[in-house]
Amino acid sequence: MLKITTGFILGVIVGLLFGPAAGVLEPFGTLFLKLLKMIVVPLILLTLIVSVNNSNPKELGRIGGKIFPYYLITTAIAVMLGIWIAKLVKPGVGLTMPGSADFEVPDAPSALDVLLNIVPTNIFQSLANGDILSIVFLALVVGFSISFMRHSKDDGMKDKGELLLNFSEAGSEVTFRILSGILQYAPIGVLGITATSIGNQGFETLLSLGKYVAASYLGVGIQMFIVFPLILLLFKVPVLRFFKNIREAMITAFVTCSSLGTLPVTLKAAQKAKISDRVANFTLPVGATVNMNGSAIHFGVGVVFAADIVGYDLSLGVIIGIILTGTLAAVGTAGVPGAGLIGMSIVFTQAGLPIEIVGLTAGVNVITDMIFTTCNVTGDIVGAAVVDKSEEKHSDYNEPVVDITAKTMTK
Ligand code: ASP
Repeated sequence: MLKITTGFILGVIVGLLFGPAAGVLEPFGTLFLKLLKMIVVPLILLTLIVSVNNSNPKELGRIGGKIFPYYLITTAIAVMLGIWIAKLVKPGVGLTMPGSADFEVPDAPSALDVLLNIVPTNIFQSLANGDILSIVFLALVVGFSISFMRHSKDDGMKDKGELLLNFSEAGSEVTFRILSGILQYAPIGVLGITATSIGNQGFETLLSLGKYVAASYLGVGIQMFIVFPLILLLFKVPVLRFFKNIREAMITAFVTCSSLGTLPVTLKAAQKAKISDRVANFTLPVGATVNMNGSAIHFGVGVVFAADIVGYDLSLGVIIGIILTGTLAAVGTAGVPGAGLIGMSIVFTQAGLPIEIVGLTAGVNVITDMIFTTCNVTGDIVGAAVVDKSEEKHSDYNEPVVDITAKTMTK
């Protein structure tokens, strides 16, 4: 996996040396992204079905009861951190409102719609569209139903349940084998993406919004290197080893700007960090969809940036409102490139700020999305690690019936 790091460094060098000409390497990156996307839907579906069956309902409830509060608390901290850093750095001061932003701000769906849309009306459509929350919902429903069949008193029903589980386990195994193959190609893909994006970003865009980018990186830096280590220490997880083990997932998140696209690598990193499959296979797919600490920092920084531009003094009441909406908007943000811009327009609307400024930041979103996504993915693995640690003390702790990833994921 050291090869991914090498691919990244080479990509940076090629991008800096050749500028926009490095774009010839783009197809290599596109191929990598397509391969990752190809595997994500079956991976989530099968991994969740199998992992629901490998844990008892009590255990799942307990894990869920720990991971969701963790997501909400760390996300709220991240919004506050974003606000605080931006108040120190003052990225908006000195900038003027853009006359006309060429960026179209997408319509923000209401919170209720987001919730209702989780339940699919047509499961095949959801699978085909890659609606991840609906797929997670489907996987949980199917997983629990298979589990009930397996524990039925009727022998015929039991057999059918076992058959379905065997089928899902076999499918999950083949998915992981394909994934191992894709990861062999990862270094070249990472090189292609990095060289292209570094080569394409003109220094001018970066400079004019330099303070905004700096505040974003600083906020994420504090979350990643102060907040997360403190949480890990609290749960007695060795911090340096943890970061070393998850390095590849961080780099993949950085270059792909997609928590979901990174999920296959995130699962692998969790194994390397010795997080049990039982906890990782359940929490990481969910985390990649709902836990967005980096995006939350994005919203905090963005709001102060906009308020400074229009000269709007944020009162305590408004700030509290922003923390609440920011947390919910982060939960609703999809783990795909650029999704944070939609969440940001929700927060801006709520705070009464002009959403044209979202368009202004869109110019540097490629650069900031990289670090926000890295923070999103790191937060997911930190959550899995601490929940796993807290699960160790349970006397009913037992290893999965079948370790679906052991055979192919132990490189
Ligand atoms: N790109 C981010 C992710 O996939 C989401 C965002 O845009 O904030 O995690």
